[in-house]
Amino acid sequence: MSINFHLSEEQKMLREMAHDFAANEIVPVAAHYDETCEFPWDIVKKAREVGLINTNIPAEYGGGGLHAFEEALIGEELAWGCTGISTALNINNQASIPIIVAGSEEQKKKWLGSLVDGAMASYCVTEPGAGSDVAGMQSTARKVGNEYVINGTKTFISNASVADFYVVFAYTDKSQKHMGVSCFVVERDREGVSVSKKFDKMGQRASDTAEVTFEEVVVPEENRIGPEGAGFLIAMKVFDASRPGVAAAAVGLARRAMEEAINYAKEREAFGQPIYKFQAVGHKLADMAMNIEAARLLAWRAAWLLDQGTPNTKFASFAKAFAADTAMKVTTDAVQIFGGYGYMKEYPVEKLMRDAKVFQIYEGTSEIQRNIIVRELVKGR
Ligand SMILES: Cc1cc2nc3c(=O)[nH]c(=O)nc-3n(C[C@H](O)[C@H](O)[C@H](O)COP(=O)(O)OP(=O)(O)OC[C@H]3O[C@@H](n4cnc5c(N)ncnc54)[C@H](O)[C@@H]3O)c2cc1C
Repeated sequence: MSINFHLSEEQKMLREMAHDFAANEIVPVAAHYDETCEFPWDIVKKAREVGLINTNIPAEYGGGGLHAFEEALIGEELAWGCTGISTALNINNQASIPIIVAGSEEQKKKWLGSLVDGAMASYCVTEPGAGSDVAGMQSTARKVGNEYVINGTKTFISNASVADFYVVFAYTDKSQKHMGVSCFVVERDREGVSVSKKFDKMGQRASDTAEVTFEEVVVPEENRIGPEGAGFLIAMKVFDASRPGVAAAAVGLARRAMEEAINYAKEREAFGQPIYKFQAVGHKLADMAMNIEAARLLAWRAAWLLDQGTPNTKFASFAKAFAADTAMKVTTDAVQIFGGYGYMKEYPVEKLMRDAKVFQIYEGTSEIQRNIIVRELVKGR
């Protein structure tokens, strides 16, 4: 029998460790960070101590060396605690992926090693005029001798204010369209790098989001990740690798909202009975549970395919879109189950609903995921 849904003892332990961390370290401070928008440095520090950051960096460079499947397991638990904080913890992983998939041995040692030693990094694709349309970016990297001169603005960049370096995509040859994009590491302290004030967001407010501008920033050739022109393909590989984890985080958020809704529906009485006994409420809980389970299985499958080295683009989009839409629906229904209390900040579900929305936007919108799925279907994949 080649398929089973049992976790190994090691996977169970990892999941339990991440859950305990979320319950003990994240949940008690989540509302504080949501309210203040401070960056959760104390949680980052504690996560470093227990190995819950840089989890995808191969062990040979000092990272956690986890597979995508295990990352999905711990990602669900951390997100159950707070998706603002779990996003803040996860961005190093995302910025590492281009280096892991396309970096040289030397680059891996240098950049992945620095993350393990305490650096933070951001992943910079989106621009003010181009988000979904990645190839519509305007940033350029002009070759001058053995150096590149980078110009452009990247917006909505997670962890931008706290990053020590940026993994940046820019055109080295615009005439080549998609095949003219290249990928670079740009250190924060290079002349010409500036970071805006951070955005005031609807949700996931513990994660930092800001704009980064590169003005005549000179980087050596050694900072280019992969060959010239490989940037677009690297970015697509990053999506295949990161979307299963994003889906798992949406599952964690949805699960938290469901648990809150179940507890409330058992305690709250109306017309002389607990409200879960009204079919209209009980069926909402049943739908939550079914959709969360389905979203988790999609996230697991997308992660598992990646770990097998099998193309996972379609499943990564299935998982990302379905889990994001599930998180939005579940949190909206959880607010409904809480009635008027659901709308109040004193109760947990309004934050969860605000936090959920961005899952339908970042890492490719829900519309873009469906476009990818159609593209894969008509190709017969
Ligand atoms: C909190 C947050 C954190 C982020 N972090 C990062 C980060 O760290 N790094 C990074 O590079 N980016 C990041 N992003 C950017 C994010 O990936 C983009 O916002 C997203 O890809 C959408 O791009 P856009 O905002 O330009 O919207 P647009 O692309 O302008 O889309 C606007 C609307 O049009 C729809 N649309 C566009 N094209 C199509 C199409 N072909 N078919 C159907 N509908 C379409 C979209 O689905 C959307 O509804 C972040 C965004 C947010 C909000």
